[in-house]
Amino acid sequence: MALAEKIYDTVIIGSGPAGYTAALYASRANLDTLVFQGFESGGQLMLTSDVENYPGYKDGVMGPDMMDDFEAQAARFGAEMRPDNVERVDFSGRPFKLWAEGEEEPVLARSVIIATGAKARWLGLPGEQRLMGRGVSGCATCDGFFFKNKKVVVVGGGDTAMEEALVLSKYADEVVLIHRRDQFRASKIMLDRARKNPKITFVTDTVVEDVLGETGVESIRIKNVKTGEVRDLVVDGFFAAIGHEPATLLFKGLVDIDAGGYIVQHKHTMTSVPGVFAAGDVSDKRYRQAVTAAGDGCRAAIDAERWLEERGEADHAEDPAIWTEDREASAPTL
Ligand code: NAP
Repeated sequence: MALAEKIYDTVIIGSGPAGYTAALYASRANLDTLVFQGFESGGQLMLTSDVENYPGYKDGVMGPDMMDDFEAQAARFGAEMRPDNVERVDFSGRPFKLWAEGEEEPVLARSVIIATGAKARWLGLPGEQRLMGRGVSGCATCDGFFFKNKKVVVVGGGDTAMEEALVLSKYADEVVLIHRRDQFRASKIMLDRARKNPKITFVTDTVVEDVLGETGVESIRIKNVKTGEVRDLVVDGFFAAIGHEPATLLFKGLVDIDAGGYIVQHKHTMTSVPGVFAAGDVSDKRYRQAVTAAGDGCRAAIDAERWLEERGEADHAEDPAIWTEDREASAPTL
């Protein structure tokens, strides 16, 4: 069969906890499964250090190690992995078509699971773009090492900001956390940890107006929103930690997307296009955790299998949520 004629039962776009869990459930249910992992495979957990709140890892686990485990577990049941980005999709008719970057022939799919996750958000300051990679960063775990014995700022008031500040405190001499309000979204445990860290100081009710410097970050201009006072703060590094945006550009106008940019799950995990499902941070503005994304990936795979089954297109598959004695006899040895 020519490559273009092959039709996968399900194609998963994305390789974070949602994508890999969907792949595990789909392939284990005997669906012919392909995962487009993207160039940044593993998703946001690749940029995280210790994950302490994923159940099962009693001593915590490094994000990248966890994603290696997720990938290996899904691959073991036959999910095919492609480390490519998807550059275009056509959901107007079935089979659905997906084009890998730089390829003319589309990959064909009976069902699609979108698990493209979310990406770090930037403040949109002129200096931020100009000095990106030259003192401006969105990932303390990746770049913290470059700020040994230096002074850095972290902007944000959520768990990400606390985590970034704590990571940076292992390298930098001084970490200034700047937040636009005096109340925090961060969980109490993370906020307490940051507050107790002697290297971290808090500057609240303050916004950053620009990042200044010629060839690298030299200072930031900040404004107190209550007093209106503007001043420059000398720093060597600037870390934005103000949350994330769902990665939905590829799907604009094709599936329903809400005002915040998140894909709407209409029926369970199904999007506005029957046969196209969404899982994880791309459709979750409330929980955004590795464990909830993994759970959502499981739901999407079950929904995809049942939807194909209802249409008589998955006779070879097993319902991932139902275990029969027949299946037990033919199950792979764990
Ligand atoms: P978040 O909770 O949405 O917090 C974003 C923060 O950035 C808020 O304090 C917000 O300020 C601020 N912000 C947003 N836009 C801004 C702008 N333009 N200028 C200045 N400040 C701005 O996002 P998050 O911290 O990335 O966390 C997302 C989710 O992941 C949460 O559920 C969190 O618990 C979870 N998470 C957990 C861990 C962990 O447990 N280890 C680590 C990271 C993330 P306002 O408060 O004023 O809106």
